[in-house]
Amino acid sequence: MIAKKAMLIDITLCVGCNACQVACKEENGLSDKEEQILSPTAYTVLHEFNGTYVRRMCQHCVDPTCVSVCPVGAFTKTAAGPVLYDENKCIGCRYCMQACPFQVPRYEWDNNYPRVQKCKFCASRLEKGLQPACAEACPTGATKFGDRDDLIREAHERIKAEPEKYVNKVYGLEEVGGTSILYISSVPFEELGFKTNLSKIPLPALTWNALSKIPTVVAVGGVFLYGVWWITNRRTEVQQLEAKLREMDDRSNGHETSNS
Ligand code: SF4
Ligand code: SF4
Ligand code: SF4
Repeated sequence: MIAKKAMLIDITLCVGCNACQVACKEENGLSDKEEQILSPTAYTVLHEFNGTYVRRMCQHCVDPTCVSVCPVGAFTKTAAGPVLYDENKCIGCRYCMQACPFQVPRYEWDNNYPRVQKCKFCASRLEKGLQPACAEACPTGATKFGDRDDLIREAHERIKAEPEKYVNKVYGLEEVGGTSILYISSVPFEELGFKTNLSKIPLPALTWNALSKIPTVVAVGGVFLYGVWWITNRRTEVQQLEAKLREMDDRSNGHETSNS
């Protein structure tokens, strides 16, 4: 069985240097401007709370809601841990954005062919036996990559070794059924913008329980969304064709004028 990979973020070790974001942007070929809010060009950001820095990114949930709500299977949970998105399947319904309990997926509103964007857990690096770019770049060990079970053990050991330093909680161990990004902290999580009232039951179980009671609505909704996607796509294609025809018209008019 493939060991589930994870990252342990020890908030007490983070110095706010932003090397994780810089490395992520470089790895993913994103604009190098510093960003404080998750965006299509920032898969990880730092939030500051009175001198304490917290990394935000996709949590790569063990049982992800984005996967369960996507009507066309554009999101998948891989055996190693990363939750990945396939732009070729996406119909742009943005259910994933609505459903994510951590408000992670971002949409390329300015793009003619918009995609959803989020951290990929450097899946291609993991396949080569490398660690994620952000973990490799972190100079203090605040972001540590490894097997999820080992990191959970290590998190508990760090808390046990210094109980006066750490809050007695590993965030991500149980939230929404568990996540691949785990946090330990010296400041209570609710003071650092973490949601501390999330269900311990994976949300897909809850959503499917609810959805199973309205199968017709789901089926009709799926067909409707496909229709919306088709019309939108078709409209873009027609607009592009019209623009091309106009360009050809202009060119041939110019040609005739110069020859006349
Ligand atoms: S944090 Fe949101 S986008 Fe990431 S795996 Fe979980 S549900 Fe999906
Ligand atoms: S795991 Fe990779 S994609 Fe995700 S934040 Fe780190 S560097 Fe970026
Ligand atoms: S690279 Fe490490 S220390 Fe620097 S901001 Fe990111 S997590 Fe914090």
